[in-house]
Amino acid sequence: MLAERGHRVTLLEKARHPRFHIGESLLPANLPLLETLGVADEVRAIGMEKWGAEFVSPWHDHKQLFEFGDAIDKSMPMSYQVRRSEFDEILIRNARRKNVRVEEGCRVMEVEFLSNPDGARVMAHHDDGRRETIQTRFVLDASGRDTFLANSLKIKRRSKKHNSAAMYAHFSGIPRSQGKAAGNISIFWFEHGWFWSIPLLDGATSVGAVTWPYYLRTRNKKPLDQFFQETIALCAPLHEQMAHAQLITPVEATGNYSYECDRTHGANYLLLGDAYTFVDPVFSTGVMLAMHSGFVGADTVDTCLHRPHQKAAALKKFDQSMRRGPKQFSWFIYRITNPTLRDMFMGPRPVFHVKEALLSVLAGDIYGNTPFQRPLRIFKGIYYMVSVLNIRRTFKAWRTRKYNLNHPGSSSDSPV
Ligand SMILES: Cc1cc2nc3c(=O)[nH]c(=O)nc-3n(C[C@H](O)[C@H](O)[C@H](O)COP(=O)(O)OP(=O)(O)OC[C@H]3O[C@@H](n4cnc5c(N)ncnc54)[C@H](O)[C@@H]3O)c2cc1C
Repeated sequence: MLAERGHRVTLLEKARHPRFHIGESLLPANLPLLETLGVADEVRAIGMEKWGAEFVSPWHDHKQLFEFGDAIDKSMPMSYQVRRSEFDEILIRNARRKNVRVEEGCRVMEVEFLSNPDGARVMAHHDDGRRETIQTRFVLDASGRDTFLANSLKIKRRSKKHNSAAMYAHFSGIPRSQGKAAGNISIFWFEHGWFWSIPLLDGATSVGAVTWPYYLRTRNKKPLDQFFQETIALCAPLHEQMAHAQLITPVEATGNYSYECDRTHGANYLLLGDAYTFVDPVFSTGVMLAMHSGFVGADTVDTCLHRPHQKAAALKKFDQSMRRGPKQFSWFIYRITNPTLRDMFMGPRPVFHVKEALLSVLAGDIYGNTPFQRPLRIFKGIYYMVSVLNIRRTFKAWRTRKYNLNHPGSSSDSPV
């Protein structure tokens, strides 16, 4: 987007695409962004249509289906499940088509900030051994969970309100629902957290377990794939679906992984996507938040460089936008294993438009003018009321959450 506005842009990527990445489920709110980038058709060709999300709970005798078409804004009824190696390659090739200088196999090693308005010097190593230093007026850090700048500036903080860890892999041989529901994401709660099951276009399915970190530590020295299979066996409905499943990728694990940075930007840099914050992926928000930050980031840099007198206001607006999305989703994420919220998800009442508002949030429709705030406040009000009415259950859930947050081992970043 910056190159389209006439800026000279260099993109340094340590990997070479296509490369594996987790996070395959997109939200309806991604689609307008893909249209604007001009890659909607390419993504449609590799995507599995996703019209909704299904929630399965061992504490309820039914499944709950949410369809994005029921959200307040009916114009965003679907999204896609994508293989990230293909999706990310489409995005990086698109940047090159738009005259960005794209360097793959090129790892940023150091950024030295110069006094304003000179920008920064970026030191990078190419994987063929070349060393390069690039002088730039602005640095956009989109290094994902590597959080390159946040680490070097020491501004990254582990979330005190949430922690979880994940194991995941791709499988073949998992049966699908019929028709429109074939591409839905399924979320299965179980005793130690929740699972996702994401059907991909080529027949493979991405399956992952997100658990409290203490659970991953019970693995001891067991091989990860054995431990993952044993964990799947703890969730009867998923285990049943996976009776004939075959593992087709290595099982991977990510340690305690929710964090945010003390700031979103400096005078000559912005932190985008996961390079700023990472929230639990239960609502498949990561790619949408990262792409949205890229859009706002491009506007911000363009203003800073072309209209420097508006720089302070542009950076302030960027800051607000970066904090808003994660905050909106975090209320739900912190409570996702809470029995009251689970009950409300499993039996949403069609009153005061609360279900439509919930769906608007689940669709990622949080940045526009969709009037979801009032019904959402009612939803939260009902949650607090039910919590008070079931005070013993609420207290027990609060105590368990507190224990899990402070459990020895919960503060470690190592996967398992
Ligand atoms: C277990 C799990 C499940 C998830 N599920 C979903 C989901 O279903 N849906 C969803 O939307 N999101 C999901 N996410 C989140 C999603 O993966 C991320 O939020 C999203 O990829 C963030 O995009 P990004 O561009 O910020 O970072 P990334 O996509 O991680 O891209 C960062 C890039 O920077 C490169 N890089 C890093 N350091 C350097 C360096 N020093 N020099 C040069 N290049 C560098 C990396 O190679 C990488 O290509 C999940 C995340 C996890 C951990």
